[in-house]
Amino acid sequence: MTRLTVIAGPTAVGKGTVVLWMLEKDPDIRLSVSATTREPRPGEVDGEHYFFVSDQEFDDMISAGELLEYAVVHQKHRYGTPRKPVEEALKANKQVILEIDVQGARQIKRSMPEANLIFIAPPNWDELRRRLVDRGTESPEQVEIRLETAKAELAAASEFDHTVINYEVAECGQQVLDLMQAS
Ligand code: 5GP
Repeated sequence: MTRLTVIAGPTAVGKGTVVLWMLEKDPDIRLSVSATTREPRPGEVDGEHYFFVSDQEFDDMISAGELLEYAVVHQKHRYGTPRKPVEEALKANKQVILEIDVQGARQIKRSMPEANLIFIAPPNWDELRRRLVDRGTESPEQVEIRLETAKAELAAASEFDHTVINYEVAECGQQVLDLMQAS
């Protein structure tokens, strides 16, 4: 059974909400906490949502080989997956989820080909734009940049092992759990 699942998909598709639903449904699943150089949003907790690090700290993690993958996302900040917690959880026979971007997913597929890559897609483009604007966490410029990234990300769906459309959180989450079970 594959125990490493990579979940990617365009901005505002609801990946985070789907993953939280899955973790509630199966508390035994481990979600990798990424390192990032972006500033925390209100309510985000260091070590829980992300490890918020400086550019220098991120460079040090790269040099020390501490990241399984990393990428610049939305043309701005760096994000990466700390290697140790993932390797330890896999060793302990846990299911592990990485919620990362498409560039990171490609790197994981190269270094760990047994990983199961699942792409979460929006029902359609207008719905994606609406979700992003409604979320209200980004400036209008950031919204445009994120939509640009989203276009490129949607084009990468065929590189993934599976695509699940997020019409509704519980339905989408259950489909991903089923795929994790089946792989
Ligand atoms: P946000 O800034 O909205 O929290 O995340 C922006 C994007 O960064 C999301 O699409 C998310 O999937 C991606 N991301 C988060 N953590 C990682 C990571 O560790 N590696 C990579 N490659 N992308 C990540």
